[in-house]
Amino acid sequence: MKSRGTKKKSLKIRNIEHTESAEMKTNNKKLKRKLVKYEELPAYLKDNEFIRDYYRCEWPLKDTALSLFSLHNETLNIWTHLVGFLVFVILTVMTLTEKTTIENLLTGFSRPAGEGRWMTMKRNGSADSFPDTYTRQISAPSFIGAYRDGYEVAIWPWFVFLGGAMVCLVFSSVSHLFACHSHKFTLFFWRLDYSGISIMIICSFFAPIYYTFSCQPYWRFFYLTSITIVGILVIITLFAPAVTSGHFRSFRAALFLAMGFSGVIPAAHAVSLYFHHPQVLVALVYEIAMGLLYAAGAVFYVTRFPERWKPGAFDLFGHSHQIFHVLVVAAALAHSIATLVIMDWRRELPPCNAGILG
Ligand SMILES: [Zn+2]
Repeated sequence: MKSRGTKKKSLKIRNIEHTESAEMKTNNKKLKRKLVKYEELPAYLKDNEFIRDYYRCEWPLKDTALSLFSLHNETLNIWTHLVGFLVFVILTVMTLTEKTTIENLLTGFSRPAGEGRWMTMKRNGSADSFPDTYTRQISAPSFIGAYRDGYEVAIWPWFVFLGGAMVCLVFSSVSHLFACHSHKFTLFFWRLDYSGISIMIICSFFAPIYYTFSCQPYWRFFYLTSITIVGILVIITLFAPAVTSGHFRSFRAALFLAMGFSGVIPAAHAVSLYFHHPQVLVALVYEIAMGLLYAAGAVFYVTRFPERWKPGAFDLFGHSHQIFHVLVVAAALAHSIATLVIMDWRRELPPCNAGILG
């Protein structure tokens, strides 16, 4: 009897324990999906003390993924670059359907489909290369810009840039969505984010250098290889185990400066060669605009304005990182216009061997 009574008691206790642990589990789950204040964060998630609240912290993976559609202090960081990514997807599709010309971009994409110029336009140097004759000049689309009886401008460096921009923006978006899941995720995704930025900067150099130095193959080779080597080194450094999250901020600022300045040399070289070509100067103005937008972005990124001025007031909307994201997309769009201007300019020039460009 005695033993049975004890058994019953222990069973009861076990049942109570069981329900209690189940309750705790559901509570924990609820807690996990709760937005928390800065003070409640583990050290590795404490990054910006001026953003006071609305943090997601170590949520289960599914909830972290679904937080794409809920409001927290990363929502706009995710969406600013997701929308930027979609803009570049549209640009890519337009190029593939041969609708992207500088006129289209400036006049609201009004050129009808079928008047493709990008992939197929040949340069014959005569007066019949007016827009209405382009359709007559269409041959099989070419991504490699092969020289046939006419002169074609290669399209692939433009795709290199579009690809780089899309990679950067989608990496950033995904990183802002998932980094808060765990310490491992934080380390991995912030590295992914920085490598995305480096990829975009490297890919940005490709098209302008390819088109402006297409008659100086040695210079073109020199600039393109040096940029590729610098880029690969930067990415290797990022994924090296010695780099910890604490070093990321200063590293990103240094990366920005180094890569930004490495564009100044080929740009100055190009202008010294073609300063009497107005389109090159127009492209330069857009590239300077890009530089200023990136610089403004870096200023917001480093100073953490405006949240520094009123901590807690910009947690959800308007904090420095969101402004930085918008400026990065604007800079990439300014660079797109510069590249399209340069491509138009190159297309209107006679081939290198015509002796005009040496
Ligand atoms: Zn970001």
